[in-house]
Amino acid sequence: GKAEVLLSVSGLESCYGRIKALKGISLEVRRGETVALVGANGAGKTTFLRTLSGVQPMSAGKITFDGEDISKLRSDMRMRRGICQSPEGRQVFGPLSIEDNLRLGAYTQPKQQVEGDLEKIFAMFPILKEKRKLPAGTLSGGQQQMLAIGRALMGRPKMLLLDEPSMGLAPLLVEEVFNVVKTLKAQGMTILLVEQNAFSALAIADRGYVLETGNITLTGSGRELIEDEQVRAAYLGM
Ligand code: ATP
Repeated sequence: GKAEVLLSVSGLESCYGRIKALKGISLEVRRGETVALVGANGAGKTTFLRTLSGVQPMSAGKITFDGEDISKLRSDMRMRRGICQSPEGRQVFGPLSIEDNLRLGAYTQPKQQVEGDLEKIFAMFPILKEKRKLPAGTLSGGQQQMLAIGRALMGRPKMLLLDEPSMGLAPLLVEEVFNVVKTLKAQGMTILLVEQNAFSALAIADRGYVLETGNITLTGSGRELIEDEQVRAAYLGM
């Protein structure tokens, strides 16, 4: 029912010209769950998130969010409904200040809540508060990742989409980013986490899906997938 399942995707297809990047994806995310979508380079993870947030058109299938069919909604309307994405490669606005980057994340939100939400983000990421007036481009890779997540949180997500949050980060920073995800999960946030770093993602996820060239080939609890022989061989380097 509405209380249980927050996101339900069925038969989702998406194409780049004649190339079908998603070939009929079906998956579910329940309220409060952290779900990992793992897969190799080029499997379609980013395309899936872009199709979900509505910036990439879908050619077949249905997306239901919070009890509503959102398949035909524009991306800004999906964001207003509570689907907020922290994009791959961070994509913060380098010349803009850190604070203004965060404010941008709240552009669909009522003005009166923005200051309070900013303070919450600053409490979570003290380094962003310290540097709030500086251009975002001056932050390190790990800090820019925190900023991208903070910006998504400013949109008051019902579901947070994280696209490769650990990409390009040194191991210590990877751990820091996953700690942030753990904290959000503990606070009850519903999270869809897309990662090439399959082990770390599955280790914190309640459930996971394996994506291979546009198809879901395997699903299970995070633990089941970590222990799966095929997953270990293909994604965990074991
Ligand atoms: P990565 O981790 O490298 O981002 P991914 O799993 O996110 O990989 P996608 O980026 O979604 O995979 O790509 C899925 C498929 O769609 C790949 O075959 C890719 O070459 C193709 N593709 C992605 N973007 C485009 C595009 N703009 N035009 C044409 N083909 C694309």
